[in-house]
Amino acid sequence: MAQKGHIGVTSENIFPIIKKFLYSDHEIFLRELVSNAVDATQKIKTLGSVGEYKGELGDLTVHVKVDESAGTITISDKGLGMTAEEIDKYINQIAFSSANEFLDKYKDDANAIIGHFGLGFYSAFMVAKKVEIITKSYKEGAQAVKWYSDGVNPEYTIEDADKAERGTDIVLHLDEENKNFLEKAELTRLLNKYCKFLPVPVAFGKKTEWKDGKSIETEEDNVINETAPAWTLKPADLKEEDYKKFYQTLYPYSDEPLFWIHLNVDYPFKLTGILYFPKIKNNVEVQKNKIQLYCNQVFVTDSVEGIVPEFLTLLHGVIDSPDIPLNVSRSYLQSDQNVKKISSHITKKVADRLEEIFKSDRNQFEEKWDSLKLFVEYGMLTDDKFYDRAAKFSLLKNTEGKFFTFGDYKTLIESNQTDKEGNLIYLYTSNKDEQYTYIQEAQAKGYDVLLLDGQLDAHLAGLLERKFEKSRFVRVDSDTINNLIPKEEEAKLDLSDAQKESLEEAFKSQLPAIEKVEFTVALKALGESGQPLQITQNEFMRRMKEMSAMQPGFALYGDMPENFSLTVNADHPLVKKVLAEVDGKTKEEAASFAAQQPVVRQLIDLALLSNGMLKGEGLANFVKRSIELI
Ligand code: ADP
Ligand code: MG
Repeated sequence: MAQKGHIGVTSENIFPIIKKFLYSDHEIFLRELVSNAVDATQKIKTLGSVGEYKGELGDLTVHVKVDESAGTITISDKGLGMTAEEIDKYINQIAFSSANEFLDKYKDDANAIIGHFGLGFYSAFMVAKKVEIITKSYKEGAQAVKWYSDGVNPEYTIEDADKAERGTDIVLHLDEENKNFLEKAELTRLLNKYCKFLPVPVAFGKKTEWKDGKSIETEEDNVINETAPAWTLKPADLKEEDYKKFYQTLYPYSDEPLFWIHLNVDYPFKLTGILYFPKIKNNVEVQKNKIQLYCNQVFVTDSVEGIVPEFLTLLHGVIDSPDIPLNVSRSYLQSDQNVKKISSHITKKVADRLEEIFKSDRNQFEEKWDSLKLFVEYGMLTDDKFYDRAAKFSLLKNTEGKFFTFGDYKTLIESNQTDKEGNLIYLYTSNKDEQYTYIQEAQAKGYDVLLLDGQLDAHLAGLLERKFEKSRFVRVDSDTINNLIPKEEEAKLDLSDAQKESLEEAFKSQLPAIEKVEFTVALKALGESGQPLQITQNEFMRRMKEMSAMQPGFALYGDMPENFSLTVNADHPLVKKVLAEVDGKTKEEAASFAAQQPVVRQLIDLALLSNGMLKGEGLANFVKRSIELI
C-alpha cells in the first residue's frame, strides 16, 4: 500500500518558514530527534514495566550514525515505534496545529517565532532536503512503515517497509548548505552540548583505541552521555567528591567550587538541579551566565536571565525543570508566574543554604567569605527579600582580619563611635596601605576600622546606611580624626583675623598646582600632638566621583576637579613657629616668607606624601630638600 497526502498545514507553506526563521538555530535538530528517540525508549520501558509490552526489551541504546557518501545522518532507537495510523496522527496531523495558531498571532515577530518552536520532529527540515521515518510498532503483528517527505511541499508519502526490529530510524538527507553536520567533530560537539545527560545511552560510532601507533575502532559503542547525572540522584547518595566531580564534568579545569546547593522541588512546580558557588576571579563578567538549563535532562540553554535572579547568574551549575515553558520567547518567560515562583524559590534556597553553613561551620564560612561576599552583596543590593535573609549571616571584616555579623559589629563600636548627635559612625578604609596613617590615628583613638575593599563594598556602605538606623559610613581619610566622629564642641582657635589671614596665606601660597585638584585651606586647633597638616577628601564628593567612574551617565562629577581639604593645626609647634614669623605681615609678605624657607613646603609635601599625592617632580624636589635639611 502506498498513500499520498497533504501534511496538515493551512497557512501557505511551513517549510520555508522553518528554514528561514530558524536559521541561526539549525543545530537543535539533533537535540529534537535524539530526545524523541529517548522518549520512545522510555515509553517502551514503561509499557514493559506495567506489563503492556511482554516481549524482550533488549539493548535500548540509541544510535547516531553518519554515512558521508550518502550524505545522511540516521538516528535509530528501539523504542515503541509507530503504526501507520500513529504516524498519521502524530506526524501528519498535529505537528502544525499549534504552529498555525502561533504563526497567525505573531506573523510580524520573527523572534517570537524562533523562540516559540520546540519544533520537534519538523526541525529536521532545517537541515535536510528529505526526511525518512522507518518504524515498526511494538504492537503485535504490526506492519513496518516508511514515511518520507521532501520538505519542499507539504507533501508526504507513506508505504509499507521491511524492518525486522521494533523501533524507529529517522534518516536525514542533508541539503547542500548543511553538509557540515556530516563531520564527526561537529556531531560530537552537538551531542556533547545537547545530549550529554540524556537518561538513555546514546552511541555515536565505536570507541577507538591506540594500537601500533594509530587509532583503530573497537567493538564497543561510543556512548556519549551520562544517563544518571548527579542532579538526578538523591543528595543522600552523593558524597562531596561526587559533587566536585560533577562540577568538573560541567566546567573542565575549573577551580573547586566553594559550596553547592542540591535543589529538589516537587510543588508547586517540579525542579531539580545543583547550583555551585564558584571561586570568583577578578573578571566577573566571564563567570556570569554559566548555569545550564535542562528540560528532563535535555539541554536547552545556558542563558538563564529571567529564570534566576540577576545576582544568581554568578552561580554555576544545572537547573532541570519540565515546568519552565522553554520554547517561548524571553519576554514571555519573564512574565510567566511559574518562572517568577522558581526565581524566588531559588533565592530562598540559596539564602537558607548559606545560613545553614554559617550556623554549622562558622570557620569555613569565614574562610570563604572573601570569595562569597560578592554574591551576597550583589544579592543584598538587588533584592530586598534576600537582604532580609542575608543580614543574618552577612559579615563585616575589619583591618585586623576579624569577622563580625552586623549585630556584633554594632555592639563592638557603639560605645566609642557614636557622635554627639547620636549617629553611629562606621569607619572604613578602602586601601589599608594607602590610608595607613589615617587608620593608625583612628586606632590610637580606640576606633575600629572596617576593610571595605571589594568591588561592591562602596555600594554596600550606601545600602547599609539606609538600612541601619542613625548610622553613617565614613572613610578614615575623609576628615581629621576629631571630625570623623565629632564628639564635643571643637576647641576654639585663639587667633586674630589678621593672624589667620597671614598664616593661611603662608600655606596656600605654597600649595603645588596639581591638575584637576583643588585645595581648601582651613585652620583648626587640633592640639599639640595632632598632625601639623592633613589632607582629607569629603566622603560625599568622593563617593560621587567613584560612582561617576562606574556609570558613564554621571560624567558631570567625573569632569569636576577633585576638592581636598588642607587642615592646618594651629596648635602644632611647627605651625606656631611659622605664625610667629608671619604675624603682623601682609598677605604678600607672608607668602614671600613662606617661599624663602623650607618648612612650609616640607610640611605640605609630607601631607601630600601620606595621601599618595606626591609624585614626579614634586617628589624629586621633596627628596632633594629633605637631604639639604639633614
Ligand atoms: P513532541 O516530542 O513534543 O511530542 P515532536 O514533533 O518531536 O513533538 O514529535 C511528535 C510525535 O511524534 C511524538 O509525540 C511521538 O508520538 C512521535 N514520534 C517522534 N519521534 C518518534 C520516535 N523516534 N519513536 C516513536 N514516536 C516518535
Ligand atoms: Mg520531540
